[in-house]
Amino acid sequence: MINTELSNITEILLNQRKFFQTGKTKDVDFRIEQLKTLKQAILEHEQAIIQALQADLRKPEFEIYITELSIIKEVDYAIKHLKTWIKPKKVAVSWEFFSYSARIHSEPLGVVLIIGPWNYPFNLIISPLVGAIAAGNCTVIKPSELAPHTSHILAEILAKYFDLDYIAVLEGGVETSQKLLIEKFDHIFFTGGTAVGKVVMAAAAKHLTPVTLELGGKSPCIVDTNINLEHTIRRITWGKFLNAGQTCIAPDYLLVDKKIKKDLVDGLQKCLKEFYGGQPDKSPDYARIINQKHFDRLVNFLKDGEIIIGGETKSSERYIAPTLIDNVSLVDPIMQEEIFGPLLPIIEYTNIAEAIAWINSQPKPLALYLFSQNKNLQKRVLQETSSGGVCINDTLMQFGISSLPFGGVGDSGIGNYHGKTSFDIFSHDKSVLQNSLWLDLKWRYAPYKGKLPLI
Ligand code: NAD
Repeated sequence: MINTELSNITEILLNQRKFFQTGKTKDVDFRIEQLKTLKQAILEHEQAIIQALQADLRKPEFEIYITELSIIKEVDYAIKHLKTWIKPKKVAVSWEFFSYSARIHSEPLGVVLIIGPWNYPFNLIISPLVGAIAAGNCTVIKPSELAPHTSHILAEILAKYFDLDYIAVLEGGVETSQKLLIEKFDHIFFTGGTAVGKVVMAAAAKHLTPVTLELGGKSPCIVDTNINLEHTIRRITWGKFLNAGQTCIAPDYLLVDKKIKKDLVDGLQKCLKEFYGGQPDKSPDYARIINQKHFDRLVNFLKDGEIIIGGETKSSERYIAPTLIDNVSLVDPIMQEEIFGPLLPIIEYTNIAEAIAWINSQPKPLALYLFSQNKNLQKRVLQETSSGGVCINDTLMQFGISSLPFGGVGDSGIGNYHGKTSFDIFSHDKSVLQNSLWLDLKWRYAPYKGKLPLI
């Protein structure tokens, strides 16, 4: 039986602290064993995980493999590199310290909390968990209540393979989160919206708990004239409409050079038909909106601008057609809030300086996309804008590179993870300085008379 009632939070935490104190999680072989168990747990429940994600979001199976179950690669990456990551790192000291050696030891933080969102409800829990395990921590997990099937399957699987004293899943909504946030953790890893991120950080501050905040925002996608149009169109369409646009790093809106706008818009329309057919509601490859609240929020955005293609909705299924929107004003709600759905506003610019100025007038985005083969333009956009990450001539793929840190900046988040950075955020870099006892120079000891000047 899964004994993870909310009333047991204090007891679970106490037991996790006790287990952490045994030192067992510090053993590298133990950590590798747990990562292997995690991988096995996922593989053995692949079908149940797929069913849960389909029940929550009607995610196409292919998308589940490439965006959710692909997390296995992150587990493998940690297993492969953990013995290197864990090694104390020697650092150089200046000549005056000739008798010293200095090194950095990565030590686990203790008991950590992971709070997840609903859009990639499996990946975005397991991915930080890989870092927490690799770094040698005990973990409490709170998945999103808005993807209840995935939340249940996570709770079920993790309880089957891990002791509660080591990894515990607490299901529930805002109230559960709030109760958890009253407790003292050694790190909080939160993925969700910017507004809730602030709530999490304020709660963490009460205990001086460090946080990683993986938040959202409006990720712009600039399209220059110097491109391979066909490839650009496919990559934008895929990145925007995957998971029905409910992706934190989806291109939120396009900023397109006026000279290429017509060709791009024509191409995007054709591409949508190629991907999802004339009736996307019948396509097995197109997901649904998570719930009625988000459906209503998105339908409201349809009032802004002029629909080029799409715009059809079916409330009973929470279906919103992939939609291209022209002539939006920059003050319309669709350009003021994160869209997080299958609506793509297309805004033209005559000079790249305008596009850059607009981006810089907005909160710093999680991702910035640029389609251009012009090296000078690439350099300029990189230098003149700030974002969590940049992906040139593609969309979303930056998320899948374990060796690239992933995270936001400013309003889009605090801290990075993936690969080694996941290990780092759940570790403390302990400085260790060691002197030898065979020699003791007296220059630093009192009496100080006659010892100045030193420099
Ligand atoms: P959300 O912030 O509403 O919820 C996230 C989690 O916080 C859930 O588990 C929820 O139960 C909990 N929560 C909600 N309100 C709370 C409160 N007042 N106090 C404490 N906990 C609370 O986010 P969401 O709707 O699940 O996800 C969508 C947002 O997440 C978007 O903004 C998206 O861009 C962002 N996101 C970011 C990333 C990333 O990697 N940076 C990934 C996915 C989603």
